[in-house]
Amino acid sequence: MSIHSWTSFATTNTGIIQYSVSFYQGLTKDVEPFADTERFSLLCASGCSNYGKKWSCPPYAPAYSERVKAWERLVVFFFQAELAQFSYIKNDYLKIKAANSILKSRADKYLRHMTRINGSYISTGSCRLCKPCKCKTGEPCRNRLLMSYSFEAMGIDVNALVKSFFGKELLWYRKGCLPLYTSVVVGLLTNEVLTDSYIEEQYYKSIIT
Ligand code: SF4
Repeated sequence: MSIHSWTSFATTNTGIIQYSVSFYQGLTKDVEPFADTERFSLLCASGCSNYGKKWSCPPYAPAYSERVKAWERLVVFFFQAELAQFSYIKNDYLKIKAANSILKSRADKYLRHMTRINGSYISTGSCRLCKPCKCKTGEPCRNRLLMSYSFEAMGIDVNALVKSFFGKELLWYRKGCLPLYTSVVVGLLTNEVLTDSYIEEQYYKSIIT
């Protein structure tokens, strides 16, 4: 299994933040062993306030196998930022929030860019195109073509996937214990074989446009 990665930087009001982007390029079926739709739907139902309130979340999200039917290939991206860089923020929880916001905005921007030229995307977290999601008011989805589902919403065990593909763990915040890093996981569904250099080049293109 070959993993490629690069290091990038984000300029904020308080300085420069370094983060890494790693990716695995393979087939959509490579992720199927990590699917457990029933278990994750139950976890969402018992522990998430978005359950039944967003069109991109369970019980409305499709199973992974349904979602990827039209696509043969998948690129999984793992964005990671070390939290020691956020020492200028006092509150540990806010450090993670700031880091996640940097990673999520870049991952979203990149994947939307790639979607326009090479396929469809699997987002980090629920679809955020409308605020609030039209599901909350009982209306149909406003943008069926652009809406996105996360791996988790489609029943994928993302922790096991990340461990297997990248040899990393997803680290969680616990009161009084700041994790070493935070990360986000997104995917690109495509029917094309993309070169590693093309994937990286398009990243830089997306963040400067
Ligand atoms: S496009 Fe809007 S209505 Fe549709 S899932 Fe996303 S947030 Fe909800």
